[in-house]
Amino acid sequence: MKNIMFIAPPAAGKGTQAELVVEKYHIPHISTGDILREISKEDSEIGEYVRETMASGKLVKDEITYQLIEERLNKDDCKNGFIIDGFPRNLDQAIEYDKILEKLGYEIGNVILIDIDKNTLEKRITGRRLCENCNAIYNINDKNNTPKVESVCDICGGKLYQRSDDNLEAFATRYTTYLEKTEPIIEHYKEKGVLKTVDGNDTVENIFNKIDEIIK
Ligand SMILES: [Zn+2]
Repeated sequence: MKNIMFIAPPAAGKGTQAELVVEKYHIPHISTGDILREISKEDSEIGEYVRETMASGKLVKDEITYQLIEERLNKDDCKNGFIIDGFPRNLDQAIEYDKILEKLGYEIGNVILIDIDKNTLEKRITGRRLCENCNAIYNINDKNNTPKVESVCDICGGKLYQRSDDNLEAFATRYTTYLEKTEPIIEHYKEKGVLKTVDGNDTVENIFNKIDEIIK
């Protein structure tokens, strides 16, 4: 199994696809967010630093993140492939990530770009509704995913609500940041010949089948 990195704009369903890959192939899902949360519970100098930095809303220094990622990827469960998530976030980090992999004797593997129209993402964002009781997710802009009764959860009858950051303004900000920081990463891996593009204007199942074709 080759290592996998997903690149996708916000709301493209990257997390869902990563879960499906983990379910089928039983490889670890390495998320920098999880690594930082774990280390912040530790009673060590680095644990304390991460805890205080996160609590103050600041970003953990790159060198610390690199060190933690290297330690995590060096564990035995990563030797047969893994998914890296939430990292790298910009070109500098991508270059550093490549160095870490080289040091550990790993290949970059498959860098999979879920390519999706901005318009489709906007529809997903503005149509998303969550059940306040069981957290089920619906989308009123997707006829396959609309609740049977308006604003009522099919599963538990709970009330549906819209998340406050699911609006076009917040999305535009996240999307602009994505383009700015991520386009150079895409170019970087394209030049290295490891970038695979999957059309994300499709159902979760169809997108997964395309990803599965690449990784199996
Ligand atoms: Zn519900």
